[in-house]
Amino acid sequence: MTSYDYDLITIGAGSGGVRASRMAAATGARVAVIESMRTGGTCVMRGCVPKKLLVYGAHFAHDFEDAVGFGWADAKPDFNWAKLITTKNKELDRLEGIYHNLLKNAGVEEIEGKGRLVGPHRVEVNGRTITAETILIATGGWPTMPKIAGIEHAITSNEALELPELPKRVAIVGGGYIAVEFAGIFNALGSAVHEIIRADKVLRGFDESMRNGLQSELINKGIQIHSGVNVTSIVKNPEDDYTLLFDKHDPLNVDVVMYATGRAPNTNDIGLEEVGIETNSKNAIEVDTYSQTNIDNIYAIGDVTDRINLTPVALAEGMAFVNTVYRDTPTAADHKNVASAVFSQPPIATVGLTEPEAAALGPIDVYESSFRNMKHTLSGRQEMSIMKLIVDQNTDQVLGCHMMGSDSPEIIQGIAIAVKCGATKAQFDATIGIHPTAAEEFVTMREKRKD
Ligand code: NDP
Repeated sequence: MTSYDYDLITIGAGSGGVRASRMAAATGARVAVIESMRTGGTCVMRGCVPKKLLVYGAHFAHDFEDAVGFGWADAKPDFNWAKLITTKNKELDRLEGIYHNLLKNAGVEEIEGKGRLVGPHRVEVNGRTITAETILIATGGWPTMPKIAGIEHAITSNEALELPELPKRVAIVGGGYIAVEFAGIFNALGSAVHEIIRADKVLRGFDESMRNGLQSELINKGIQIHSGVNVTSIVKNPEDDYTLLFDKHDPLNVDVVMYATGRAPNTNDIGLEEVGIETNSKNAIEVDTYSQTNIDNIYAIGDVTDRINLTPVALAEGMAFVNTVYRDTPTAADHKNVASAVFSQPPIATVGLTEPEAAALGPIDVYESSFRNMKHTLSGRQEMSIMKLIVDQNTDQVLGCHMMGSDSPEIIQGIAIAVKCGATKAQFDATIGIHPTAAEEFVTMREKRKD
């Protein structure tokens, strides 16, 4: 027995912190987890889960339209935003209960409050100091907004998930994951959506075909994209709406201004300086491949380390931490070929390298296909799907796989296994498709793109 109160104190009960705490406790460790907000963290309470529920809710608008081509009467059902938010919140309460139970059943002590490091083995919470042999920081991230005049009138995704009513006109600043996902939700539900991006198109860092394809689809759906412009200030009007002023654009009046301009690691006031934990220029905690900080007994996982800011990655980092510290099996978190999806309408999903990333490694072949889904031959919807495979010319290995279109996140999850296993294009080609599906295109693309 050590003289510490616990073997492990985890600061932050989000996806990564909860998983690591439970799994450490399962090895017999005495664990406490500290959380100042809701158990479940960003993904479950303010991110992936509530967002996806709203995406499902919004998508019915398209389904009702599409049904007409299949013989259904042109029904225009009434949509009730308040009801969607209430049922979504009920589901979050249920999930939070499950998280509490998971921790309780694993023997993890939950402490409500803000944890702050006051020594390498000591954490202050609610005015008392508790100690542990090992400390895990899993405090996640938080939305950031530029400091412009009137920014206090803007909301972030946190508040967008709780709006009392559906805005008639909404401006979304940013062109990343969160911006395009919320643009799709509000647009489908009937808001007039203005997406304001400082670049020429959305989703910087994604494959160019996906970026171009999604930008066209957003425009076709009636989302007004204002590109190459910056908001200089936000003015609140006596009518309770807002005017956005720009550097290179006419003023724009809207009812809600939402910023989705990135997230920053939650490293403020958690005692990092006191203990001498190193952070990088973006204030993320510096860790090695085992998620260990420069202080031997302090580890950090998830968005607070700003590696790949996705829930499943935080879970994997948490598991690797437990293997390393409690199972005597040093395990580096594997960040290669992590699949991800953007739940825009239509969604995008991707695994592996983009074209420029792959081309930087050597000669590549590109197979690309774009088509209208069979469903839309009758629905009349003009929405396109795009699929792309990037193949190493020397080894025939599939290095990247990208898709925009219905169900692309579900499809790419399966393809990701093949890519992770290092499958070759010949092996894709040898796989017999399931007909008729969109996914079969991934095993039937034979023509190299001619550049
Ligand atoms: P992103 O980093 O994805 O995108 C930020 C966007 O804001 C970019 O378009 C960027 O433009 C723009 N931007 C940044 N600063 C400014 C500024 N000062 N003025 C105007 N525009 C600006 O951030 P998100 O907030 O969308 O998401 C954060 C992270 O959360 C993601 O990176 C992802 O890891 C995770 N996430 C994952 C989801 C999923 O898996 N489905 C869903 C939601 C979030 P530019 O391109 O020019 O830099």
